[in-house]
Amino acid sequence: MTRDENVSGNESEASTPEHPRPPGRTGPERPGPEGAVSGKFETRAIHAGQPADPATGAVVTPISLATTFAQDAVGKHAGFEYGRTGNPTRAALEECLASLEGAARGLAFASGMAAEDAVLRALVRPGDHVVLPLDAYGGTFRLVARVYAEQGVTWSAVDVTDQDALAAAVTDRTRVVWVETPTNPALGVVDIAAVAATAHAGGARLVVDNTFATPYLQQPLALGADLVVHSTTKYLGGHSDTVGGFVAAADDVLGEQIAFLQNSMGAVPGPFDCYLVLRGIKTLAVRMDRHCDNADAVAAMLDAHPAVAQVRYPGLASHPGHEVAARQMRAFGGMVSFLAAGGEEAALDIVARTEIFTLAESLGAVESLIEHPGRMTHASAAGSPLEVDPALIRLSVGLESVDDLLADLERALA
Ligand code: PLP
Repeated sequence: MTRDENVSGNESEASTPEHPRPPGRTGPERPGPEGAVSGKFETRAIHAGQPADPATGAVVTPISLATTFAQDAVGKHAGFEYGRTGNPTRAALEECLASLEGAARGLAFASGMAAEDAVLRALVRPGDHVVLPLDAYGGTFRLVARVYAEQGVTWSAVDVTDQDALAAAVTDRTRVVWVETPTNPALGVVDIAAVAATAHAGGARLVVDNTFATPYLQQPLALGADLVVHSTTKYLGGHSDTVGGFVAAADDVLGEQIAFLQNSMGAVPGPFDCYLVLRGIKTLAVRMDRHCDNADAVAAMLDAHPAVAQVRYPGLASHPGHEVAARQMRAFGGMVSFLAAGGEEAALDIVARTEIFTLAESLGAVESLIEHPGRMTHASAAGSPLEVDPALIRLSVGLESVDDLLADLERALA
């Protein structure tokens, strides 16, 4: 048997520890929170893990395509051996985003779902129990309730804004409490610190999907979460041109478990995708500021519109989670959902009538998108406790002129 055919499929087995952290490219191994050696958020977004290329001086991290790396002697190398196990462009992304989340370690994946799968693989076994929120991305629900449930994992869906209900749902088999905040698609807000306390009191880990907020607006690990997951396909990539995922771990033990699974299961992103996410992250702060401003204006307009029954935006004082959001978020995000006053038929009409808001799934990019979650992104939750109100419309408010966006919605609602 050659090394490439070894039973575990782990091409890095010659090195110890088994899953070595790629060589640090800047500063300390654990970039600390705001104010640490590597600077504030915006500075780390541009520089963490991304020094000028030592070989050429290039200020942009090279897209490193090599699948294998020369060794001076067995196990003696510059930190990389085989492209699934580690890649320099991926390492730069992992260091940068781990820094932004204040994580001990970050691991990049081929999609958000691959990242979620790695987290569940690390934390649950047949017979274990997962608590899901009543509102979550349909794919997360499908992964737990269809894929993991088939392997003997049980789940229940709970109102995670009610700590008594959550505490009652946590059993001695509960390993994971999973939340999103703000939630997809109903824009609910979950008190991360409160849920972390309840989950930990019951012996469970807290996983927070931070896709909607991004680390610029909210840092769940600092509030007590154990793991953060991302679909980097969304705001982090920011331009609708790459699919990816990420896991940020609060401690090295969890980080090592996720690294083991990343290498063992192999759902790694390609170097070009890593480059696109790294590039997106450089402008994350300024993009998020404008997404939030535009969404704020859109929410205010919808809130006063007679064709709208209810607006769900954490920035509105009337939102039940407004105070929690104001406490745990820097601003309220770029996503706005609303219920059409005329029900499902009206909602389907509205989503077909906008011109600048493109009818499409996904979110978090420069262009504005509109969708009908019940029939599109969340169709897999139909008939479950996570089923979406059929009158709900979800907007991903982009970076176009806010005047044009408001006029587009006014036209569609008329
Ligand atoms: N989490 C959230 C909140 C999402 O909206 C999505 C996708 O829409 C995912 C996870 C899954 O990510 P991906 O599509 O990159 O696999």
